[in-house]
Amino acid sequence: MYKINDNYTKLPGSYLFSTIAKKVKAYSEANPDKKLIRLGIGDVTLPLAPSVISAMHSAVDEMGNAATFHGYAPDLGYEFLRSAIENNDYKARGVDIAIDEIFVSDGAKSDSGNIGDIFSLDNRIAVCDPVYPVYVDTNAMSGRTGVYDKATEKWTNVTYMPCTAENNFVPELPTERADIIYLCYPNNPTGAAATKEQLQKWVDFALKNGSVIIYDAAYEAYIRHEDIPHSIYECDGAKKCAIEIRSFSKNAGFTGTRLGFTVVPKELVCDGVSLNALWARRCGTKFNGAPYIIQRAGEAIYSEQGKKETRQMVDFYMNNAKVIREGLKDAGFTVYGGENAPYIWLKTPNNMTSWDFFDYLLENVNVVGTPGSGFGPSGEGYFRLTAFGTLENSLEALDRIKKMTI
Ligand SMILES: *Cc1c(COP(=O)(O)O)cnc(C)c1O
Repeated sequence: MYKINDNYTKLPGSYLFSTIAKKVKAYSEANPDKKLIRLGIGDVTLPLAPSVISAMHSAVDEMGNAATFHGYAPDLGYEFLRSAIENNDYKARGVDIAIDEIFVSDGAKSDSGNIGDIFSLDNRIAVCDPVYPVYVDTNAMSGRTGVYDKATEKWTNVTYMPCTAENNFVPELPTERADIIYLCYPNNPTGAAATKEQLQKWVDFALKNGSVIIYDAAYEAYIRHEDIPHSIYECDGAKKCAIEIRSFSKNAGFTGTRLGFTVVPKELVCDGVSLNALWARRCGTKFNGAPYIIQRAGEAIYSEQGKKETRQMVDFYMNNAKVIREGLKDAGFTVYGGENAPYIWLKTPNNMTSWDFFDYLLENVNVVGTPGSGFGPSGEGYFRLTAFGTLENSLEALDRIKKMTI
């Protein structure tokens, strides 16, 4: 008699987005004449850039010709793409990353979920609270997180590091055991960024404690301030203790196209074993590589034209972020984020719970956002709005919010 992986049954379920969908559906059905504005989406809305489309077209034609056809991709990804990453994402910022430390993937969600494969189940993970739910959920699926306590909404074997207004949404160094530390900056959902000084503290901590940092830099392209590092490897010693995960989703609109990469430095060695070799082994066995057409599409964002076009996309979202942020401030809200990230994180008015504020916005002004408590217990009392919509929608949502009498 076979048995299932019981860890899956312990997951609390993706109640956040399904609850939102249910509430929105019920409201829409009861009020079919109301126009809802969705500022809760975590997906991009602008189309792929012309240079990306053109590279894809050429690659498609190559695939139809025996002389230029491509079969299985190399395990680590094509050199043309890894070399573009090495030069543009790292060398241009004074960071030396070798081409065989870069692993091209089908996105940051897969990699941040799968990286746990190369670590023992005995490790204790530490996560920012609130944060992107993939880190905790995938560790739970592999059986690393202990027992889920419904009352506290926490797993017994996870070190939660509260990120609140008091610490500018960058956590204190943990006092509990923390072997694998997940950091995500600029952060989803708080929109916070970490300075080089702040990140260096984490790197120093990891080196001293023998911890490894999994650094999710999916929103690197949104960084505007000079003192915010784009890569964890801008910190001294990070190549000895950190893995970095990147994505083409939020900077270039590849959410439906799928492309990302992970950097595992060769200096990252645990008990004499190279993590780079372990991850290479994993990729070679459990991953068939991102398609040639998509890797060519990714290469195109590093051309002069591609850089210009992707910059325009990010600027467009950042302008939305600014409009929302400033508008909410004018309306008297306490607002965070939105300066180096496409997320605006606000304090709910009058100490409302995150869900009460969600209901209030939905029912009174027909604006849909995301309750902060859905990203972790310390998100209670906060609310997330995203900048991925149109400018018209952002402006109209603000207009409605400003008219609220709360
Ligand atoms: C959107 C997002 C990702 C997902 O990236 P993909 O490359 O599309 O899988 C990863 N990390 C964070 C924090 C995100 O918000």
